Amino acid sequence: MKPPPFEYRDPETLEETLALLAEHGDDAKILAGGQSLIPLLNFRLARPEVLVDINRVRPLAGIDDRPEGLRIGAATRQSALERSSQVAAQQPLLAEVIRYVAHAQIRNRGTVGGSLAHADPAAELPVAMTALDASLIASSGRGERRIAAEEFFVSHLTTVLEDDEVLIAVDVPRAPAGTRVAFEEFARRHGDYALGGAAVVLTADAAGACSRARVTLLAAGDVPVRAHAAEKLLVGAVVDAAVAREAAAAAVRDIEPVGDGHGDGDYRSSVIEAMCDRAIARAAAPGEGKKA
Ligand SMILES: Cc1cc2nc3c(=O)[nH]c(=O)nc-3n(C[C@H](O)[C@H](O)[C@H](O)COP(=O)(O)OP(=O)(O)OC[C@H]3O[C@@H](n4cnc5c(N)ncnc54)[C@H](O)[C@@H]3O)c2cc1C
Repeated sequence: MKPPPFEYRDPETLEETLALLAEHGDDAKILAGGQSLIPLLNFRLARPEVLVDINRVRPLAGIDDRPEGLRIGAATRQSALERSSQVAAQQPLLAEVIRYVAHAQIRNRGTVGGSLAHADPAAELPVAMTALDASLIASSGRGERRIAAEEFFVSHLTTVLEDDEVLIAVDVPRAPAGTRVAFEEFARRHGDYALGGAAVVLTADAAGACSRARVTLLAAGDVPVRAHAAEKLLVGAVVDAAVAREAAAAAVRDIEPVGDGHGDGDYRSSVIEAMCDRAIARAAAPGEGKKA
């Protein structure tokens, strides 16, 4: 299938990009890695009149190690995240999840910002960024704004971004001392979108009790789902296998994943519960979950 006709623009600066978005409004679409947008065009599910290719806008790509954490440019390739020693050392959850995103060829083109802006609830990066309390930086002719990952996703393939805004970066804060992370998902084949999964970030105090917990579920609803009930159970507890099981059961109590040809809602819910149980247990076990 071929895409519908469009005008192609490839600005070199952020200012030019913003001017194009301001001029064309919802007739324009940003093109980053093209790994989700091009199939949508080819299937005629999107028909923008103008494609604004941000690949030549240099400052949008790169990973910057700052005192407060990592700033990841929106146009950073997913494969750059995978290869980054800074990411591996400081944000092991991102290093872990990125290997589950599609296949190497897709990660070579696909960008971090593209995955977030595409907002598929079965995508790994939105779930991980929510679990890590990341902030997304959006820019437009009206200035910049910072959006908490948890506030960014509105529903399936929809975010709070306005038509004239471009995502320029993601800030991932340093984790407090004593933080361990784990990610688990189940997909029918490696590289496929998962049937369910969970990202877990646990911080332990000096006595070994959990002082802070983030549990975020993959493919559990229209957006990445924060499992507040599970987090509440974990905080204050010394997390062992029984606590992990109880928290995972609490995590899925209020979700209603939509069934499809790969499994009905109940099946998906039990997959998510099992992945959540494994991720909590691994994050809590010394020598198992990765130290952040
Ligand atoms: C076969 C296949 C399997 C895949 N499997 C997985 C998987 O298992 N897990 C997973 O997470 N993903 C998967 N993907 C999707 C892949 O990760 C894409 O790279 C990603 O979703 C989109 O990134 P992109 O840079 O290619 O964005 P594009 O396709 O260029 O854009 C996607 C959307 O985001 C918008 N956009 C892009 N960048 C910005 C920006 N900076 N600011 C504002 N809006 C922007 C575009 O306008 C468009 O609406 C798969 C893709 C394919 C083709």
